[in-house]
Amino acid sequence: MPTADHETVTGLPPGIAAVRDDLTPMLSQYADLCAAHEDALVLFQVGDFYEAFSEAAEAVARICEVTLTQREDSTGEYPMAGIPIDNAASYLESLLDEGFRVAIADQVEDAEQASGLVDRAVTEVITPGTVVDDELLNSGTTNYVAAVACESGARNAGAPNAAGTANDDRYGLAAVDVATGECLVTDGDRATVAEELERVDPAELLTGPETAPFTPADAETGWMESSMAGDVFERRTAVERLEPYVAAPENRFGSDAELRAAGAVLAYAEYTQGDDGPLEYVARIRRYDPREHLRLDATAQRSLELFENRGLGASATLFDTLDETSCALGRRCLERWLRRPLVDPERIRSRHDAVEELTERAFARDAVADHLSAAYDLERLVGRISRGRANARDLRSLHATLAVVPEIREALVPDDAEEGADEAPAPHADHLADLVDRLDTLTEVRDLLDRAVVPDPPQEITEGGVIREGFDDELDDLRATEREGREWIADLEARERERTGIDSLKVGHTQVHGYYIEVTDANLEKVPDDYHRRQTLKNSERYYTPELKEREDEIVGAAERADALEYELFTEVRDRVADETERIQALADALAELDALCSLATVAVDRDYVRPEIVDPEQDPSAGIRVEAGRHPVVERQGEFVPNDADLPRGSVAVITGPNMSGKSTYMRSVALAVVLAQIGSFVPTRSARLPVLDRVFTRVGASDDIAGGQSTFMREMSELTEILHDASPNSLVLLDEVGRGTSTADGRAIARAAAEFLHDELGATTLFATHYHDLTDLASERERVFNLHFTATKEDGDVTFLHRVAEGAASSSYGVEVAELAGVPPAVVERSRELVDGGADDGVASGTTEADVEQTADPSTAADEEPDATLADFAADDDLAEPVTADGSGSGADRQHDGAENAVDDDTAAVVDDATAEALDALRELELATMTPIEALNTLHDLQDDLT
Ligand code: ADP
Ligand code: MG
Repeated sequence: MPTADHETVTGLPPGIAAVRDDLTPMLSQYADLCAAHEDALVLFQVGDFYEAFSEAAEAVARICEVTLTQREDSTGEYPMAGIPIDNAASYLESLLDEGFRVAIADQVEDAEQASGLVDRAVTEVITPGTVVDDELLNSGTTNYVAAVACESGARNAGAPNAAGTANDDRYGLAAVDVATGECLVTDGDRATVAEELERVDPAELLTGPETAPFTPADAETGWMESSMAGDVFERRTAVERLEPYVAAPENRFGSDAELRAAGAVLAYAEYTQGDDGPLEYVARIRRYDPREHLRLDATAQRSLELFENRGLGASATLFDTLDETSCALGRRCLERWLRRPLVDPERIRSRHDAVEELTERAFARDAVADHLSAAYDLERLVGRISRGRANARDLRSLHATLAVVPEIREALVPDDAEEGADEAPAPHADHLADLVDRLDTLTEVRDLLDRAVVPDPPQEITEGGVIREGFDDELDDLRATEREGREWIADLEARERERTGIDSLKVGHTQVHGYYIEVTDANLEKVPDDYHRRQTLKNSERYYTPELKEREDEIVGAAERADALEYELFTEVRDRVADETERIQALADALAELDALCSLATVAVDRDYVRPEIVDPEQDPSAGIRVEAGRHPVVERQGEFVPNDADLPRGSVAVITGPNMSGKSTYMRSVALAVVLAQIGSFVPTRSARLPVLDRVFTRVGASDDIAGGQSTFMREMSELTEILHDASPNSLVLLDEVGRGTSTADGRAIARAAAEFLHDELGATTLFATHYHDLTDLASERERVFNLHFTATKEDGDVTFLHRVAEGAASSSYGVEVAELAGVPPAVVERSRELVDGGADDGVASGTTEADVEQTADPSTAADEEPDATLADFAADDDLAEPVTADGSGSGADRQHDGAENAVDDDTAAVVDDATAEALDALRELELATMTPIEALNTLHDLQDDLT
């Protein structure tokens, strides 16, 4: 990610270092600040700009596309580049994108009052993981900086481990969202922590000196990783660091690794916030145990498209589909839930209870949503307030947000319902009742804010106009004095005109000279004695009187004192609000949960989801997954959807066959998504569902279906498969989608079969296995809990249609041929293909060929893979006939010929190709099937057939 040469740009730029002793005081101050922030690019406030010098200036100019200028002073010339402070956000974003940390060195005293050099200090270090500026943050989602510490196995055991295995190493993970103060910690072995990291998805990761780097699965959107030297990762340092946050930190963590990670991440967070000491808004350090959550590793999250969609054209994710939240708090809460579904049946049911009640109370739900959409981002507000960064507008936003709380309570617990005799008072669901109890109205805080802060305050808090009249007597007096003075001056013109008889006399004000009385030259003789000359203009003179001067001083003095007093009062109010940080955070949590639950209820109602029955596997260990008329929550929104049942006894392996595009992948995912949805507390898109609580959902998509780059796709496929075979349990759900595809047919088939057998025999994990290796269906007769499902295609109104309907049993081994026939491929070719399939069925090779061919034809997305561009000429199963078609640029048809053609083709194949067929094949060569959709391709072929007959 980082492309700039950070060495010369962060810390002290060499060009400045070289002349360090000769610098002017200002540049010398710049040099000091640079030297103190070695890993950051320092932006140095000079008036209205943030400036960088020397090499740093060159980088800023290039990255931010601003002009590179020269600063000239008595000591020399320095390249200089600046960005306007008023409008810094987009420039800062560019610098962050380049992988820089940016230290902001602000002027920390008023430039006008400074004698000599203005004092400057680094007030914050902006980094990808710790930005707090709303403009730089994507408001809905969390932005974490994470740290990982490692305790070697030897240290854990207290004595050197004989084997010295790395497996005993314990890793601690801590993550902080600097904007909201959320702090999570957990620990485990390296694999667990690596998986958690993928789940937390930090923008930035810090590792201790003893920790090997963690490479994100996706380097492009992954984190910026830095190894931290020094003592921040040391236990003692960490304990000290943590003391302001939690009492007795030594006892509060699961392991030393966890404690050290927490210490390090907070040290870094404090550093980025200008080293002002502890971050008060980090009120909770939440420990969690990954085992308390359904484990979904990064691969599963991706292939289930929970948060990102890698498919071409499509853009929807499960999260988008599910997100009907009304405010940022709720949106982030829903995201957290989806990243970490529950595994405790009681907690799951209690969320379902709440969602169920909300589905029934449309009116309350709408009201809550309405009020929540008026809420500001409470977590971030309270973060700014406790850091002393909030301005008056923030306090007003807090006020507006607190104001909706009583309304929300009222919506959920209507007054009349409380009295109602025949009906139990709402809410019925314990979970919801509990949430209502947690809706702290914080009345005192709200009153204080309302009394103290004017309704529409200015951005600046030092220039007055912030504190409301009636809040403070002294302030009111000062403002009264100021007001009276101004009124007196406003009347002065009339009074003086009368007194002097000069009708053209004017009273005015300039910034430099203050108030004056202006008399034109023609009237100078009428000027009274108490007028003192202040200024001579071309045609007039300006005067003041001692009384005017006195009044003016009074006004100015009162105004200045009032502004200062306002600032003081404002910070007092802010501090008093900051004292309630914990309560406000608790309220934020409650609102967030409520919003997320309402969102789930809205989705359930709008899209016809139902409450699943949740089975505790401890109470009913034999319960399998049962879904009646299940739909894929994302795909169903794109058009007509054919619901399908799933009945998967525990530990069963369903082998799913059928042509490409017939619905296998969608079917499997819809089962997995029902499980994920149910375990976050959502209803599910089914007619009914009975689901055991699962511990893990794995998904593995064969290499040829997964276009993600990186390591050799087949290597990756295999290492992912290995992971499943290690970690799956009888409480896991495993989806294998075309696994084994990335290698030769024989190897792939062997791997697929071995994996299916192992899952069935050794692991007992419930498995859905979509495969194009038709012979895998034999397993059903060999193994007790293996059964077959299949998808088919039919011809309706002359068009080939995929029914997308699952059925029991294996697909006919020649379904490829059947689809070809449906599509109108010449009968002779179909006939011959069928012979070959049947003849070769015993070793599975010939059927492999033909079905693969049709699948490839039918799926343009695979055109670029290892087995691309299977050609229609292959229906004739003849090398010679195949060649001309591959010559159209697809070229690699020969690549897959090894599949079966070599084995299955005999020389007399051509004999079955009569004249009509040859003609058809000629026409086929003209077609660019790779660029068509499958249906288009099949329909075109059908038309072609019509033309020929
Ligand atoms: P396969 O894995 O068998 O190649 P997919 O599951 O990828 O097939 O489905 C191909 C396309 O068919 C999907 O993108 C979707 O648009 C559509 N589809 C799949 N299942 C259904 C269904 N049950 N109802 C409606 N359309 C479906
Ligand atoms: Mg598929």
